[in-house]
Amino acid sequence: MFLSRSNSVNGKLNLGLMGGTFDPIHMGHLVTAEEARQQFDLDYVVFVPSGIPPHKEKEKISLPEHRFLMTSLAVMSNPHFFVSPFEIDCEGPTYTIDTVRHFSCGEREGSEVFFITGADAILEIFTWKDYEDLLRLCTFIAVSRPGYSLDRFRETLGSDCPEMKHKVHLLEIPALAVSSTFIRERVTLGKTIKYLTPEPVEQYIKKHGLYLSGG
Ligand code: ATP
Ligand code: MG
Repeated sequence: MFLSRSNSVNGKLNLGLMGGTFDPIHMGHLVTAEEARQQFDLDYVVFVPSGIPPHKEKEKISLPEHRFLMTSLAVMSNPHFFVSPFEIDCEGPTYTIDTVRHFSCGEREGSEVFFITGADAILEIFTWKDYEDLLRLCTFIAVSRPGYSLDRFRETLGSDCPEMKHKVHLLEIPALAVSSTFIRERVTLGKTIKYLTPEPVEQYIKKHGLYLSGG
């Protein structure tokens, strides 16, 4: 994927990455990415659907092709949003550190990488593979998410890990209490998912009969 630097003033690219299962992508993901883009002056946000997520290995997850295509449909109308098959194309489980390393080198050298993640995920950052390297390589944008308080994390940041303060920014976004789990459950129950995800994604789910059985 080629991301042009022509948009940025000093040739430096501010690149946002958003990882997730995206099974399916929903308005919570999109609102979050757009708010982060504006607040942090990101040139692009690249959505990176996971291959086999290390923490979800045993659960039933839709095929990577489905998740990649749904994510592509969802970002189509935003010129700043892209989707990368990087994690899907990797064999075996991939970790955030691998993705961040991939996006911080090569043609993108010199760009600043921001990893956008929800409050639920950032609360576990200390358990992530090579998290110290991660903090060196990128800046985290931790967004609020209904049901997950950032207060505990805020306290930890201030006391135990003062050096992290510059590398993790907390971002309050308009609360959207939607999750992929919620959408999958609604489809299984035959309930409408209109306005919870972009219409092309809704149509894709219908066409391919995704989530019809609870799995
Ligand atoms: P699931 O219910 O299957 O776990 P999910 O809705 O949590 O799905 P993921 O693909 O797991 O979606 O999430 C990708 C990233 O988006 C994570 O960092 C997660 O915290 C964040 N995220 C998901 N939903 C929201 C939301 N409504 N508001 C803010 N961030 C969100
Ligand atoms: Mg989740």
